Amino acid sequence: MNLSEYIRNIENFPKSGVNFKDITPLLANSDAVEHCLQQLLALVGGKKIDKVAAIESRGFFFGTLLAQKLNAGFVPIRKPGKLPYKTLKEPYQLEYGLDALEIHEDAIKKGERVLLHDDVLATGGTARAACNLIEQLGGEIVQCNFLLELEFLNGTKKLSSHSVKSLLKY
Ligand code: AMP
Repeated sequence: MNLSEYIRNIENFPKSGVNFKDITPLLANSDAVEHCLQQLLALVGGKKIDKVAAIESRGFFFGTLLAQKLNAGFVPIRKPGKLPYKTLKEPYQLEYGLDALEIHEDAIKKGERVLLHDDVLATGGTARAACNLIEQLGGEIVQCNFLLELEFLNGTKKLSSHSVKSLLKY
C-alpha cells in the first residue's frame, strides 16, 4: 500500500503559500489506518516505551493507537488553556509571533521512556517545544516519529539531539 495516495495536498491552506498535507483521506480508510499504524510501530522497533506523548490535535489520532499497541500510557500535549489540571507551559516561535504548548505536570514520571508523535514535521518548532516539556518532567525521549516530514524546512535540525523518523518525506 502506498500511503502517499491517502494524503491530500491542499494548496494555500490555511494561508497563501502553504501546501497543507491533509490526512483525512487516510483516516477515512481503515485499511490505510492499520497499514500506517503497523509502519509507525515498525519505526519504533522493539524499543520499550512507557508513554506516548502526542501533539494537539492531529497527533492524537495515531498517538492513542500507538500507545495502546505499545502497552504505553497516552499523554496529550495541548494548546494553552485546554488541560484542566496543573500544567507546564513552553512557548515557541511561529513564523509571525509566539504560540505555546502545555502538558500536565504529572503526565510523565522521571526516567520514563517517551515516544513523541505528531502528524507532520515542518520547521520543527512545535516538536521541539513538546520535547522540552517532556524533558522538563524528566522523561527520556526514545524517538520522535511523524507520518510525514517536509524535508525542505529542516525540522530535524531542531530535534538533532533525538532520533527522528517519519513514514513519508516530501
Ligand atoms: P512546525 O512547528 O513548523 O514543525 O509545524 C508542525 C505543526 O504544524 C504540526 O502539528 C502539523 O500538524 C502542523 N503543520 C505544519 N505544516 C503543515 C502542513 N504543510 N500540512 C499539515 N500540517 C502542518
